[in-house]
Amino acid sequence: EVKNKNKFEGLWRLSKLGVPVHNDPGKDFLGVSEGLLQAIAKVLEFPVASMLPAEAFSVIRKSFDARKMLKEPKFVYVVDMDVDKLLSLEPHTWDFISRLEPKVGLIEHLSQGRVSGDLISIIRDCKRIPGDAISRNGEYNDNSMSKGSIPYSTSRKPKIAIVGSGPSGLFASLVLAEFGADVTLIERGQPVEQRGRDIGALVVRKILQMESNFCFGEGGAGTWSDGKLVTRIGRNSDSVLAVMKTLVHFGAPEGILVNGKPHLGTDKLIPLLRNFRQHLQELGVTIEFGKRVDDLVIEDGRVVGVKVSDSRDRLQSNSQKWGYDAVVLAVGHSARDIYQMLLSHNVILVPKDFAVGLRIEHPQEAINSIQYSRLASEVRSGRGKVPVADYKLVKYVRRENGDVSSGASRSCYSFCMCPGGQVVLTSTNPSEICINGMSFSRRASKWANAALVVTVSTKDFESLNFHGHLAGVEFQREFERRAAILGGGNFVVPVQRVTDFLDGKLSVTSVPPSSYRLGVKAAHLHELFPIHITEALQRAISMFDEELPGFVSKEGLLHGVETRTSSPVQIPRNTDTYESTSLKGLYPVGEGAGYAGGIVSAAVDGVCAGFAVANAFDLCHTGI
Ligand code: FAD
Repeated sequence: EVKNKNKFEGLWRLSKLGVPVHNDPGKDFLGVSEGLLQAIAKVLEFPVASMLPAEAFSVIRKSFDARKMLKEPKFVYVVDMDVDKLLSLEPHTWDFISRLEPKVGLIEHLSQGRVSGDLISIIRDCKRIPGDAISRNGEYNDNSMSKGSIPYSTSRKPKIAIVGSGPSGLFASLVLAEFGADVTLIERGQPVEQRGRDIGALVVRKILQMESNFCFGEGGAGTWSDGKLVTRIGRNSDSVLAVMKTLVHFGAPEGILVNGKPHLGTDKLIPLLRNFRQHLQELGVTIEFGKRVDDLVIEDGRVVGVKVSDSRDRLQSNSQKWGYDAVVLAVGHSARDIYQMLLSHNVILVPKDFAVGLRIEHPQEAINSIQYSRLASEVRSGRGKVPVADYKLVKYVRRENGDVSSGASRSCYSFCMCPGGQVVLTSTNPSEICINGMSFSRRASKWANAALVVTVSTKDFESLNFHGHLAGVEFQREFERRAAILGGGNFVVPVQRVTDFLDGKLSVTSVPPSSYRLGVKAAHLHELFPIHITEALQRAISMFDEELPGFVSKEGLLHGVETRTSSPVQIPRNTDTYESTSLKGLYPVGEGAGYAGGIVSAAVDGVCAGFAVANAFDLCHTGI
């Protein structure tokens, strides 16, 4: 029997455990409830749920499922069962455990545990591996050999510049600083305290600071955001888990590790970023806020530094040269000046498909009742038992008289949906309008907004006569300018009722209220984009209404324009070393380099790049 027991010991993962809403304590409870024990007992075929010790189970994931075909909405759990603990606390379960059969996606024996800690502990553990370049006390080991192609003296720490303090830059800085590099983090925008005041001045007094706004500043583009931490790169991968645990280390609620759709909200992001900054400074990272990198210093085909100026100085009159052994470029995709600068050094940039469209806003109550029907009353401004309702819509639309092979079909989808949020201005230039959405952690506002976008590619750019490496950037800029003109200036956003957009007419009666604080003006949004993009949006929106009846209603208000869904270019880099394929010593990372889309994937890219650079300088011999 003992031999047999070995087969069952350790962790088992039980998935798709459904607990009806009436039997669950609600979205904020992430422990093991009686209702969950009943669902577990059913899977184990154990007759008395109350005899199962809650301590033997840990909740790995909790999601909410309110699909219409269900008799009652339910919470769906993934739970890990510690068999050794279970048997020691309740030996009677052995008969049932010994009959357990693995079923793919439902019951699995875990051969390996999840990553045990955050990045800081992972790196500190790996520094203890004998032979690594870092000694136990974190001092750089003079005897280590630098890798062939990197000309720097091994008698000092490698000096690395990280340009940009968005998620990719912050995480790259963390990894490199933990490995003992001499890191300088250069950020054109301001620390969160000043940035908050600058954003306040924008929203209240319409003053746009071109270097400190919704895109630029500490934390990057995602700081004044919804803080959604969902990602398409695999929620359970080691690197994603390490990033999430690091966010918890810096003050994010532990719930993000379990929640099926984790999000932070701006109010939680700001203190987290302060803690992140303090940790970097304690590691010796030099942080330069309000400093813009304008150029690279290149010698013998290798980057040896950057030219930096005070970011308020648009003329770059006090530009200084700072020398580095490597430069990690983590500038996001709103730093259009950087793309231009890279081209001037013949760095290869490849145009990339992205998506453009409009942002729709409904009253949150309308979305709650479309999604939850009678259960909508349980939302209670984010304080209720069920989460504030969201949606995710995707359709493939084919142009009339067109077929797929002629390139006349496009994906159309909702993007960056912000339940209980508000529409915000993400322009970095007063003559352009582009928007996005943000929320606070409780998602308590009375509005729900989401971008509705269609994919665009080189063919679209060329149809407007935009060619070359930055054709996509010009394409974005064109519609941002048109939106500013339609709004009539002063950051007023052009809007149209969704019903009028479908009928192709101006919203003449007063438009519904909007959460956008700088003013809205009724406009012909159906004339903003080329006809094939407008038609694709119109057709998709009608299809969305079939899926969510009521989505097309007089209350639905479209706002223009949503253009910065992802980077319009990619900066090719070596898959293993992360170094640019066209310029040595340059490490392009994150969303602006075309390798990420969203907070978590940008952070993961920064982590991987951090390990790659640490590897290149022999600071570590490992990856994540
Ligand atoms: P960024 O975050 O863009 O950071 C780049 C940084 O580089 C900026 O701080 C910038 O100031 C700095 N920089 C640029 N040029 C220079 C220079 N020349 N010198 C010095 N510094 C420079 N994603 C999600 O996953 N969930 C969400 O809920 C979400 N909501 C969003 C809401 C809004 C309003 C916005 C704008 C974006 C949102 N995003 C969201 C997208 C997310 O913010 C980005 O995908 C992510 O921040 C990209 O990270 P990054 O590090 O690659 O670049």
